[in-house]
Amino acid sequence: MTATIIDGKKVAAEVRSRLATNVASFTQRTGRTPGLATILVGEDPASEVYVANKRKAATAAGIADFHQHLPATATAEDIAAVIDALAQNDDVSGILLQLPLPSGLDSSRLIDRIPASKDVDGLTTMSAGLLARGEPGLRPCTPTGIITLLDSANVPIAGALAVVIGRSQLVGAPVAQLLLHRNATVVIAHSRTAELASLTKQADIVVAAAGIPALVTAEHVKPGAAIIDVGIHRTDAGLVGDVLFDEVVAVAGWITPVPGGVGPMTIATLLENTLRAAEAISAASDL
Ligand code: NAP
Repeated sequence: MTATIIDGKKVAAEVRSRLATNVASFTQRTGRTPGLATILVGEDPASEVYVANKRKAATAAGIADFHQHLPATATAEDIAAVIDALAQNDDVSGILLQLPLPSGLDSSRLIDRIPASKDVDGLTTMSAGLLARGEPGLRPCTPTGIITLLDSANVPIAGALAVVIGRSQLVGAPVAQLLLHRNATVVIAHSRTAELASLTKQADIVVAAAGIPALVTAEHVKPGAAIIDVGIHRTDAGLVGDVLFDEVVAVAGWITPVPGGVGPMTIATLLENTLRAAEAISAASDL
């Protein structure tokens, strides 16, 4: 058996193309343009690339760019003042504080300054609470992108046994909640989990988000299962994930590659969240 490869690049391109159309019709209907404010603090080269890619994708989708670049010497008060100004700005629909921040800054406190209505990364305590309670809100981008990928391949979620490897606030915990809301039976594994393989071997869906290269091998996988690889690791041989692709592809029913699987979905979902935020803000101001 060879798994169906879930092509994240293709799905992300479809999402972005549909989104550009939806942004255009929103702008035509309301006379407003969705706006995304990315905040970069310092000169971390990887963060600069991530932010540049997000801005480029947003501009291509017709979303206005409100980028703010602060020096590495910026204080928590400086960053808070920028967030507060963007929160007050009616032209800004979404605010994203690029992580990691330079050392010494409390990222959780600063993220929590972003109003939930503009929290397009879905990482504030308020957004996490809304997700936990199953109430409407903006959801974290990578986990939402994972659900979009599963749906794109028609992987059954309701009633499936899903094992999520990892419990971070960025990926593991929210993707587990999203799967639960879609009526999967969810098990969350972490670094203290005993007998990981015996759990994953029973799963219909495995989301591997441990940050350990080749953690998931053929021995971990039930034949026909859907394997979503969130891991990203730079090696001499190129990018690899948390899943030993060459082995697992022969056992699984579906699998996401690295690169070209989950990665492209993160930005596509950020753009979707920005339009969703613009729509909600516009609807609220029309009341
Ligand atoms: P993280 O904050 O380091 O969390 C890793 C999680 O994995 C923790 O909950 C940890 O458990 C668990 N874990 C560690 N070793 C394990 C083991 N042997 N067995 C089972 N669980 C184990 O990482 P993250 O931010 O969630 O990211 C995970 C991976 O996804 C990284 O490779 C990251 O680069 C990648 N990522 C990709 C995207 C994308 O767009 N494709 C986005 C975000 C992240 P404890 O809680 O017990 O420590």
